[in-house]
Parts: sequence; structure tokens; C-alpha cells
Amino acid sequence: MLNETHAADAQSWVESANVKDVDFPIQNLPFCVYVSGAQEAQIGVGIGDQILDLLACKKAGLLDGLSDVIVQALTQKTLNDFMGLNRAQWRETRSHLFALLLNEGELSARAKSSSGEVLIAQASAKLIMPMNIGDFTDYECSHHHAVRMRKIMSGSSKPLANGFYLPRAYHGRASSVVVSGEPVYLPLGQIEEDNEIPAYKPSEKFDYELELGIIIGTGNERGHPIALDDAENHIFGFCLVNDWSGRDIQKWERLPLGPFLGKNHGTSMSPWIITLEALAPFRAPQTSPGDDWPEPLDYLSSDRNRAEGALDVEFEVFLSSNKMRADGVAPHKNSSNRLRDVHWTLSQIVTQHTSSGCNLRPGDLIGSGTVSGPAPHESACLYELSEGGKKTFELPSGEIRSFLEIGDEVTVRGASQKEGYPRIGFGELVGRVLPPATKA
Ligand code: CA
Repeated sequence: MLNETHAADAQSWVESANVKDVDFPIQNLPFCVYVSGAQEAQIGVGIGDQILDLLACKKAGLLDGLSDVIVQALTQKTLNDFMGLNRAQWRETRSHLFALLLNEGELSARAKSSSGEVLIAQASAKLIMPMNIGDFTDYECSHHHAVRMRKIMSGSSKPLANGFYLPRAYHGRASSVVVSGEPVYLPLGQIEEDNEIPAYKPSEKFDYELELGIIIGTGNERGHPIALDDAENHIFGFCLVNDWSGRDIQKWERLPLGPFLGKNHGTSMSPWIITLEALAPFRAPQTSPGDDWPEPLDYLSSDRNRAEGALDVEFEVFLSSNKMRADGVAPHKNSSNRLRDVHWTLSQIVTQHTSSGCNLRPGDLIGSGTVSGPAPHESACLYELSEGGKKTFELPSGEIRSFLEIGDEVTVRGASQKEGYPRIGFGELVGRVLPPATKA
């Protein structure tokens, strides 16, 4: 639903938000949690290159007009309480923050005159984990990714039948989800050496997986699945996710129960939460999986889902090595990817998760799965790009890679853009591979 907060010509009194193609124009209003100086963790909103300090806004009377329950939730140390409200309350908050940051109106004039107290430069703040993640689930929503991975891992070119009827997923690990910039340790694990004989050692096939992170807002009661056309009322927003993967560990352990230690050592997410409301102009029809696919079962099918269930987000993945950074060489672009190459929609992901009666809670993180496109060069992980390690590629420094090595840094960016609307950026997700924290 588009409203005044999506107006393309709206400008902010925060001048850095009005620069063309900035990540955080006034139409974005992403949430974060940050610390600065001696201040405790608090919730902020991104605007241009600044953060709007919501606690300072409250003290300055700039949140007057919002209900007490909203103001209370916005002045906590995590976003969970705010995520646990409902979509009408998230919209009310967005409209208020928009009016506060717009370059016209009474509220905006008061905010501008308090700018010294309510704004803090992003460069001088440390962004931290924005919510307590109760549960992390990781899907495998790209059919292109699933087909290529299966071919490489098991040699079979016949897709698994269940993938035609449901988006596959597994329950991941919330304790090791970290925000951008936090260390990523090369995982240790059992790796098959001789035929069916493993050794315990650091992964030699360490990989990234570019994914969209879906963050649950309002939860559901256990035993009560969320209907498809109600699913988006339970989505608070999105972030970028890198699902780091030890492919050699994964290959040895994966059958019959699926991913475990190849994945549970660390997952990185970007610290800015882009709301579903901010992305309203970028809705799109569900991407057709192909005429030879069966119709989804009724509970995963609706006209609304087909008409506007998808979201247009573009991603880029960059790689830099120790040597490249030392030599001042710019990061190498490894791939460009589009969320629309994934045909299972946001609503189908949420509905499928609860279809057993499973309950979701505010702040739960759900990964879309690797956002790989139809062409092999559109793969969003190295396992596909290198065909399991058979192919190599050369970095600008002349170094050769099939997988990540110690010191390599993976940077992911994402944005929604479309003619006639300001670009809505996701910020950046960075992770650098460090040696194992302990010896094998
Ligand atoms: Ca994954």
C-alpha cells in the first residue's frame, strides 16, 4: 500500500538523505540498534549518513502523538518489542518519523531545531545486533541453486520431487548469528579424506551464500498456521544474510538429516532492518517456475500471492584478499543477483514455516536461501561458481581462488530500485575470514 511516505519528490532537512542514489533517503527509514561513546544500546533510524536517536527524540518531545506502547517499544535496547507490535502500529510509526524528517511542517521544524541532540553521524556509532534472535531458519528457495548444488554434491541431475511442492528449509542456529564486521572463523569439522574415512581439520572448501534475511514481526500461536494472504502482516522487515558454509564438512555430514556443523559455526547479517513498508513500491508478480511445474497445494496458493508476492531486490557480492587490501586494489565483483530469480515468495516462506503448527516469534530470522539465478555465472556462492572446486578464478591481484582463504573479505550490498522511485538501499554486510580460533 503506497502512501505519503513513498512520495518520490519528498526531501529531508537532513541534507545527506537527498543525495541521488543514497542508501537511506527519507523514503527508506531503516531501523538499527547502536552504541556511541558511553551511551547504552538504543534504537535508531537511518537517514542519509546520520542516525536519528529515538531516545533523544522522546526526551525532546518529538515522539509526542505516537501511542505510549509504541514510544515504549522504540526506547528499548533491542527491536523485539517494536517488532512484536502490529502492521498498523509500524505504519503509524513510519508516518510519524517521515513527518519528523521531512523538510516541511511543524514537527519537522522542531526536530530540525533539535538536530544537535537527535542526530548522530553513522561514522561515529557502532551498529550492533538489532534484535534477540530466538530462532534462525534457512530456506533453499532458488530452484537454480538447488539443482546445481545437487548435481555437484551427488552427481544427480534429477531434482528432488518435494522441491516442486514446497520451499525446503532446515532449522539453523541462532546463537552464532553475528552482525556485519564481526569475526568469521574458519570452521573445523570432519572431512572425508580417503574413501569413507574422515579427519578432523579446518575446512578447505569454505564458502559464502548470499541470502535475503526475513525478520518476523508479529508472531503466531502454536497450533495456528498463518494463512498465505495474512503472512505479510507477520513480516517486519529484511536484512542481508551471508550463510557461511564449510562445503567439505557439509558434504560428509549432510545425509540423511541435512545441514549441521558445516553451517552452525557462524552466519552474518547486516545491521540495518529495511521494513516491508519501505519496499512497497518494489512489489512484483511471483516469478513463474515454468509451465512444467505442478500447481502449489491450496494453502500455498492465492491470486494475491501470484500478482504481487515477489519483491525486486538486486544484490552484489564482492571479494577482496589480504594482498588486494594491502596493495589498495578495489574489491572484485564476484556476482550480481536478483531476488526475482527465486520463485517461492515471502508469504509462501512464512506460511510453509507455520503450516505444521509451528509458532514464529518477533525477531526470528529466516534466510531465503542462496539467491542464485538461472545462468551459472549468476550463482550466489562459490560452490556453484567453481563447480565444487573444479574451476578456479583469478582475483585482480593474480591470486587464484575456488573457495575462500584466510584473510578473504566478502562484502554484500543490496538495493531496490525502479524508475520513478528513490533507491532503497540495504547498507552493507562485511565479513572477513579468520583462522580457526582454536587448533584442530
Ligand atoms: Ca543457506
